[in-house]
Amino acid sequence: MTAKPEKTVKCPTCGKPAAWDKEKNPARPFCSERCRLIDLGAWADESHRIPDATPPDFDPGEPSSH
Ligand SMILES: [Zn+2]
Repeated sequence: MTAKPEKTVKCPTCGKPAAWDKEKNPARPFCSERCRLIDLGAWADESHRIPDATPPDFDPGEPSSH
């Protein structure tokens, strides 16, 4: 009997064990493509929440002074 335990990782999205073998699980370290997309969506959503504010001291120059 040579039943070696399959290496798994914890899916960052749902916490279920996910196969680490990329041939069995192309979505690793997630358990499924769906969890991968959920995580990517969460990241995208997170970046959208960061306000893209220009620093107040940002001086692009004075185009009218020329
Ligand atoms: Zn998952």
